[in-house]
Amino acid sequence: MPIYIEKKPEKLISEDGTRIDGRKPDEMRPISMEVGVLERADGSAYIEWGKNRIVVAVYGPREVHPRHLALPDRALVRCRYNMAPFSTRERKRPGPDRRSIELSKVIKEALIPAIIVEKFPYTTIDVFIEVLRSDAGTRIAGITAAALALADAGIPMRDLVTGVTVGRVGDFIVLDVGHEEDQFGDSDMPVAILPRTKEITLLQMDGTMTPEQFEKALDMAMKACEKIYQMQLEALKKKYVEIEKEVLGGRENVS
Ligand code: ADP
Repeated sequence: MPIYIEKKPEKLISEDGTRIDGRKPDEMRPISMEVGVLERADGSAYIEWGKNRIVVAVYGPREVHPRHLALPDRALVRCRYNMAPFSTRERKRPGPDRRSIELSKVIKEALIPAIIVEKFPYTTIDVFIEVLRSDAGTRIAGITAAALALADAGIPMRDLVTGVTVGRVGDFIVLDVGHEEDQFGDSDMPVAILPRTKEITLLQMDGTMTPEQFEKALDMAMKACEKIYQMQLEALKKKYVEIEKEVLGGRENVS
């Protein structure tokens, strides 16, 4: 949780379910994704999710340094989640802190089940998640973009990984928790899944929910992940359609 103090809004949600930013309980913020945005990385992706702006670079599979970290039966996966000092409402001290170390770990663990790590023993796959602008939901936006960057790097994968945060504000279960809801809502629950099998690879929760509310929230997250997954597939396809066009255009020029 953030450590700075903000003023609690008088009301986070109205009786008819209109949220503080005008959304309905089951409405997501606008999302757009792009694959292959960094020339120097093996794979990359950029995501805009509401006001969040995140870029992800993937390198590997490549040689492990220091060497003793290499695993004989699978690739080592490393992940660094970093928030730029200018990414938050209040300037953040640069460099790792407890939160970013924890997030790097949980994000890595959310991604590993999707990667066929057994294919690349003694190598490493490095994932760098750089948050340029943050507005709640950066871990799930980072995971969603990281899955795209891994696929863009050509790393064999069982599936993509897709995430969203659901939460509770009063009696309402809300989709894609916004900044004020994250700060002052009754609970928030980031979820990441392998969308084809629906296996959950990340599930965290702050605050409280009844078992019924939890089930409703999880169901809402699953349905939203299906939509976000389609956006991920579109983003991947878009890159390869563009490459195809370039290649075919080049061929026409040759003949
Ligand atoms: P997530 O971004 O995954 O929702 P948190 O719930 O920890 O993670 O944070 C919610 C939001 O609070 C972040 O997206 C960010 O906008 C803000 N925040 C988090 N940590 C800090 C920090 N150290 N300084 C300023 N703002 C922060």
